[in-house]
Amino acid sequence: MPRDLTEVGWANWRQATRLVRGGTHRSRFDETSEALFMTSGYVYASAEEAEAAFKGDIQRFVYSRFANPTVTMFESRLAALEGVPFCRATASGMAAVFAALACMVKSGDRVVAARALFGSCHYIVAEVLPRFGVRTVLVDGPDLAQWEAALAEPTAAVFLETPANPTLEIIDIAAVADLAHRAGAKVIVDNVFATPLLQRPMALGADIVVYSATKHIDGQGRCLGGAVLTGDGDYEETLLVPFIRNTGPAISPFNAWLLLKGLETLELRVTRHCDNAAAVANDLAGRGDLDRVLYPGLTTHPQHALALRQMRAGGSIVAFELPGGKPAAYRFLNALSLIDLSNNLGDAKSLATHPATTTHQRLTPEERAAVGITDGLVRLSIGLEDIEDIIDDIRQALDAV
Ligand SMILES: *Cc1c(COP(=O)(O)O)cnc(C)c1O
Repeated sequence: MPRDLTEVGWANWRQATRLVRGGTHRSRFDETSEALFMTSGYVYASAEEAEAAFKGDIQRFVYSRFANPTVTMFESRLAALEGVPFCRATASGMAAVFAALACMVKSGDRVVAARALFGSCHYIVAEVLPRFGVRTVLVDGPDLAQWEAALAEPTAAVFLETPANPTLEIIDIAAVADLAHRAGAKVIVDNVFATPLLQRPMALGADIVVYSATKHIDGQGRCLGGAVLTGDGDYEETLLVPFIRNTGPAISPFNAWLLLKGLETLELRVTRHCDNAAAVANDLAGRGDLDRVLYPGLTTHPQHALALRQMRAGGSIVAFELPGGKPAAYRFLNALSLIDLSNNLGDAKSLATHPATTTHQRLTPEERAAVGITDGLVRLSIGLEDIEDIIDDIRQALDAV
């Protein structure tokens, strides 16, 4: 990837400006909006130029599995937002998680991860990596004593998600990063729930941050995408880039273009998501007839103080537990009329899901119990509709239960 595209003066801009303008690279047609380069390959003026490009003597685009101008604009804008020099976009969030981990571990290595993970992340850590001889240790994320014990031996990588899906438990990134670095591990944080705007894992000691851009970055339910970000030039150059180039999780330029345009409105949307989600959490907490209401912004959240320390706001996801178990949860979900039933999140549309039977169905009942996913638990991704309409819908559905 031509480096100059990542170094166009964004360092002096504030976040909202970086979101609108970071990474923009105009073609010779001087278009206002970022161009969509739907091309797999590139042409050379001469055989000599092709040779020089492949040798690395000149920096230019050679093949879209390696780099593409629209994808590079998306990567540069997201890197500018995160405040790090390196970003690699991938076809999905899971491709980003897998590349971030698989590029750096080998047989005999150890990986320590939090137990409460997005279902497919759990599958990679607990099932795929062990098949290649990587030993995985799972710990309860909020319990620092467990991290300390697990990181008493040399470790290659630490993987965690905070807030975690769907129970919104919070992990102390700075404390875990400190323990991890003493064990020689690189720390990978899945920052999807917080978004780059609410939590800055690199500033807290993380080495690598991964996103499912499918969620808030697109935020409009249109496409899949992912990204791996780092400030570690050695990791990027010797591990991540060769892995991505040669294994091929490249994102379509079209999807990168949607995500690039999604970033322009990210701050506006995330602000509204958080305001709406906080209002829903307060309304649910005020009812008194629910077993648990989980939202990092509520003072009743078990790690509220930590959430305040490492996040700017509580995020867009609220979870709660109905006393009547699965039948009550299903009655609630089936009574919703505005909010859609869907397992996606971070969308403009408010969405509701039943984690125990959908996103976390593959876990055993014991594994679900260990991370607090009960049969009465419902997860709400609060969207951008009028807050009165969202709350009215939730109230009428709870009354129907
Ligand atoms: C959705 C999600 C992923 C996976 O992203 P895809 O884009 O669906 O592949 C990974 N981690 C978290 C926390 C997610 O919410």
